[in-house]
Amino acid sequence: MTVWIGTSWKMNKTLAEAVDYAGGLRQALSGRSLGSVQPFIIPPATALASVAGVLDGTSVLVGAQNAHWEDAGAWTGEVSVPQVSDAGARLVEIGHSERREHFGETDETVRKKVDATLRHGLIPLLCIGEPDEVHNAGTSSEYILEQARRALDGLEDALLAKVLIAYEPIWAIGAGGRPAHPDELRAPFAALAGTFGGRVAGLLYGGSVDLANASGLLDLPHVDGLFVGRAAWALEGYVQLLDLAAGLAGGDERRSEMEGVDQ
Ligand code: PEP
Repeated sequence: MTVWIGTSWKMNKTLAEAVDYAGGLRQALSGRSLGSVQPFIIPPATALASVAGVLDGTSVLVGAQNAHWEDAGAWTGEVSVPQVSDAGARLVEIGHSERREHFGETDETVRKKVDATLRHGLIPLLCIGEPDEVHNAGTSSEYILEQARRALDGLEDALLAKVLIAYEPIWAIGAGGRPAHPDELRAPFAALAGTFGGRVAGLLYGGSVDLANASGLLDLPHVDGLFVGRAAWALEGYVQLLDLAAGLAGGDERRSEMEGVDQ
């Protein structure tokens, strides 16, 4: 089973800092075996082509933090999926809560971006997550399932199989976020798995992930990986998370081989 470990740098890093990180990552990976861990990095648009160039030929997938649903045209300030693809992106982050909150991203525009991303053969990384009040009301699962359905309903199986879903509770992400207790995530992941398990490329968790809580999160049923912010913005932090995930995944694979269970 593939374990996805990725980071978005949000609006951080100069070009020089981004290239430095990417070069360090390239070097770090050359002496490592990550097994079934699939790394991905989502730099700001200004550094996308350079980071993709530095990481070319490695196992790291490079992504864009956003892309418009139209291929080209009078959309000042936007970049399209063909443009980010041309710059080296293999993945597009869609519907992060910050874009929904600050940039008017709706379920409708998220859907259009998912379609555009798939149309051009890139991987949509669909972000979903509920606000604090929904969590407190105990309706997180219903809320995020509805978000996911609106983004993905009606996609044919072969296209759905390319989609990554990142569940990121809004109350758990960013500097003001409260790290989730793994038990708070069991029901939402069970709900996502009930509808999308085995049909999408992976179900990821994001929100105040760090080296201390990562293994407890990766151990949760139906969690296929982690989408990390702050804890992976320094290269050492990201590499430590990759090592941790590779160690856990290797252990799981050895166990299932001994038990004769297919992953
Ligand atoms: C995020 O904002 O999507 C995120 C996962 O950030 P952090 O890990 O810093 O909470």
